[in-house]
Amino acid sequence: MSDYPREECGVVGISTNVDASRLAFFALYAIQHRGQESAGLASYNDKIQIKTGMGLISQALQESDIENLQGSFSIGHTRYSTTGSTKIENAQPISCMVENTEIALSHNGNVINAKQIKDELKEWGCEFKTSSDSEVILQLLANAPGKEWKEKINYMMSRLQGAYSLTVLTDSGVIGIRDPLGVRPLCLGKIDNGYILASESCAIDHIGGEYIREIEAGEAVFITENEYKTIYKKETKKIAACVFENIYFARPDSILNDQLVYLTRKKMGAQLAIEHPVDADLVIGVPDSATAAAVGYSEESGITFTEGLMKNRYVGRTFILPDQRMRDIGVRIKLNPLKEIIYGKSIIVVDDSIVRGTTTPFVVDLLRKAGAKKIHLRICSPPIKWPCHFGVDFATKNELLAANKSIEDIQNFVKADSLGYLSIEGLMESVPKPKNKYCDACFTGKYPIPVQLEMNKFALEN
Ligand code: SF4
Repeated sequence: MSDYPREECGVVGISTNVDASRLAFFALYAIQHRGQESAGLASYNDKIQIKTGMGLISQALQESDIENLQGSFSIGHTRYSTTGSTKIENAQPISCMVENTEIALSHNGNVINAKQIKDELKEWGCEFKTSSDSEVILQLLANAPGKEWKEKINYMMSRLQGAYSLTVLTDSGVIGIRDPLGVRPLCLGKIDNGYILASESCAIDHIGGEYIREIEAGEAVFITENEYKTIYKKETKKIAACVFENIYFARPDSILNDQLVYLTRKKMGAQLAIEHPVDADLVIGVPDSATAAAVGYSEESGITFTEGLMKNRYVGRTFILPDQRMRDIGVRIKLNPLKEIIYGKSIIVVDDSIVRGTTTPFVVDLLRKAGAKKIHLRICSPPIKWPCHFGVDFATKNELLAANKSIEDIQNFVKADSLGYLSIEGLMESVPKPKNKYCDACFTGKYPIPVQLEMNKFALEN
């Protein structure tokens, strides 16, 4: 049902004196929004133990699993598949042997030359159990030449192309690795008697830790109970952090590029009000990701902000919706308009993005039926015209609404009274500086590295 971009995955890693997996378990809950297809934990206590399951964290992991995952080092993962099918074999963390010891890995991102590297690794004698690009990274790291981690990581980074933020569980601590483009986020925090690595800083907050900094593009940081240290840093000429993390993926209480995401989104909303002003009675946001932008629009325009749509947070993400009537119900299950608030009013509706355009017409219709007099749709991202190759499952170019229609056509299609998108300049004005460090390829088609435009999510399936 959802027309919103699918988050990619979330990773955590903990080194502490005791009970690392329990902390990793709680930290995972903070990044549940980054993936809901499967979840898992791994811990090290003389040997690596892994527990994975399908669905939300609460479905995949039970209290008894945490009891069995003893040890001082742990990593965790929440998955939405961007490469490979939704099946338990592709759940993470995954492990393999490195000489006489074992390592486990959690991955967020998408490696675009995984097929080629997998073929090479097979020639080296590697065997694969999954159809994900994450296992290709794991095997490449495990079998890379060199005795020390820095040599292996150097080789791995010289071979992989694409996005990978990793937590790697070893017998002596956890390594956090961010690809040389720095596409997906990864940050470091201090906790009692140890350190944490996580996709987003809200995971650090949730377990009472203190945010230290982001892992830099091309950096590998080793954490133990007592210290963190950079064990590798690749000199990077080009950084391409995903700008969409600021618009939609990251939680508003996370910090990206040293700025609270909530404040970044408020700025986007304010910029949207400057670029697309309109007379109206109220501003509402499509909950939850557009709420901050709606507040920003309201503050800049002086038009009152109110809640106008209530979101049911307990509805799962995947529906089978065979016909129009069921799709209508699908939207209604998720969103309920506050009729008494919006009846007879002209409203500005702020949303974060339109991907295929399968949900927006229903939201407009829902508000219209609730009595809204005029509906002015404001989108706090530029039109999405290009697919993502770095860990976000948007759609193919053919399916993207803005790739095939003009703004006027889209306005008619969603049946709004007016429609305004944030410009790319306005977006870059709103996100934390420096401006040239972002990937914005889904809006501009300018990919930071060459890509094959028709990517196949199942290219690594047998
Ligand atoms: S193409 Fe878009 S979603 Fe993908 S990494 Fe770049 S900015 Fe992010």
